[in-house]
Amino acid sequence: MSFTPDPLPPLTRRAWNRAALALAISPWLAPGAQAQAVSSSAEAAKGAYKGPAWQINPFSLGVASGQPQPGSVVLWTRLRITEADAALKAQTISVVCEVFADPALRQPVRQWRVQTDATRAHSVHVIAQDLQPGRHYWYRFVSGNAISPVGHARTSPGVNDAVDRLRIALASCQHYEQGFYVAHREMAQRELDLVLFVGDYIYESSNPQHMLRKHQGGVPRQLDEYRERHAQYKTDADLQACHAAHSWVITWDDHEVVNDYANDLDRDYTDPQVFLRRRAAAYQAYFEHMPVRLGPDPANASQMRIHDRMAWGRLADLWTLDCRQYRDHQACPDPNRGGGRVVMGCEALADTSRTMLGKAQEQWFTEGLTSSTKRWKLVAQSTQMSSSGVNSPLGRSAFTDGWDGYPQARARLLHTIAQARLQNVLVLGGDVHMNVAAQLRVHPNDERSPVVASELVSTSITSRGLGEKLLAQIRDSNPDILHARADERGYTLIDVKPEGVSAHFRTTPYPAQADGVFKTQAQFHVQSGVAGLLPG
Ligand code: FE
Ligand code: CA
Repeated sequence: MSFTPDPLPPLTRRAWNRAALALAISPWLAPGAQAQAVSSSAEAAKGAYKGPAWQINPFSLGVASGQPQPGSVVLWTRLRITEADAALKAQTISVVCEVFADPALRQPVRQWRVQTDATRAHSVHVIAQDLQPGRHYWYRFVSGNAISPVGHARTSPGVNDAVDRLRIALASCQHYEQGFYVAHREMAQRELDLVLFVGDYIYESSNPQHMLRKHQGGVPRQLDEYRERHAQYKTDADLQACHAAHSWVITWDDHEVVNDYANDLDRDYTDPQVFLRRRAAAYQAYFEHMPVRLGPDPANASQMRIHDRMAWGRLADLWTLDCRQYRDHQACPDPNRGGGRVVMGCEALADTSRTMLGKAQEQWFTEGLTSSTKRWKLVAQSTQMSSSGVNSPLGRSAFTDGWDGYPQARARLLHTIAQARLQNVLVLGGDVHMNVAAQLRVHPNDERSPVVASELVSTSITSRGLGEKLLAQIRDSNPDILHARADERGYTLIDVKPEGVSAHFRTTPYPAQADGVFKTQAQFHVQSGVAGLLPG
């Protein structure tokens, strides 16, 4: 790993006092269960913190950081308690989180003591506050005689800072059974500012025809089953390395709950009251395993806010949108099997009241977007925004689970960008298991409709892609798509600079093998002030 941290100024006595007074309150801790500042870091190294005597190190799921802000970042771990320590499962366990300014852990910055227990699967979320903007930090957790691996985190730059670069790795769709996380290994070794993960972190389902390794257990429905699925993914060494190396910014798609769910409806037309209980379990387990600030809504556990906005100095605003929780149900469904399908001549698609984001999120997003003063507006969401319908003598097809199934909502959004004359809007997505570079117009593929924004969709980390025959039809029917390849797995490296954005699709053949090697499949760039992607 090659980190290039800026040196921190030496800690003043005042800073230490402030540190000693500060409390880090996880929003998910019960009222009153506040983290306490701990006096000395040297205790940790000697294993002198009060706490259990572990037989087996419980930090086997690694550590993670995420959702950076100028003065704070979320630090995460989860104690995985084995049978050797079974007596501890029912106890409230004390965990200390230590933050340092250097990778050798010689310069302590802050530390917090938090409590965790079985009601949150012994997960720990520390919102590390009162940090410096735009800095690198290293952190670890300590419980009794057990010490976690060390993670690297960073805070975002001050909101008005002139920053000359934001380097992102965009990734999604990591079916555990369909390949190895060699992409995470490469990301872990790179110098990045953020990993941007846009959904399908876990998969609930299996396809026995495409299996390099196996899920444990069947399709999760209950909280414990979703916890086990997340824990299995988190045992992967490459995924752990990528979490430890970088701060992540994330949103979800469907497979974190179940394929093609829309709001309160699944493909089996399960009674929404029953399905929302399953969604609550899935959201709870998701929160317990992710470095995010907010958990399920205390007033309604089937709701959890994942959409967010962050800034990278004056260089960029970055939105992470939720395309699942608030959307209208898919249009023109098959009465026997819900979810997405390919339709032609579906009149409901013309209904302007239908939304992909839900009214409240759509309004929040459009207001933010049109008032943004940052050079670049990066819009991360879970799927492909450009059209991928196929023309035939019978008409044009639309896949109802993607943005093609919400064409009025898409047109509304792109019209807003055009109307407000917004420059430098770049949409980032996943879900479709292919690399896509596309121009976005209010009227897709219509030359008379000007390009108003650009889109980059990253292929999957592991999940299998579409066949070449269908892909060729998609390319032929969509001149706005400059590049579309579904045959390789990987991630996308995106460099955002004041003068332009460059993107490299980094790929390895399918299936992603443990020793897979990466190359650049294609590269594109966007010049500041010029709408649309350019090759190279
Ligand atoms: Fe996927
Ligand atoms: Ca998906």
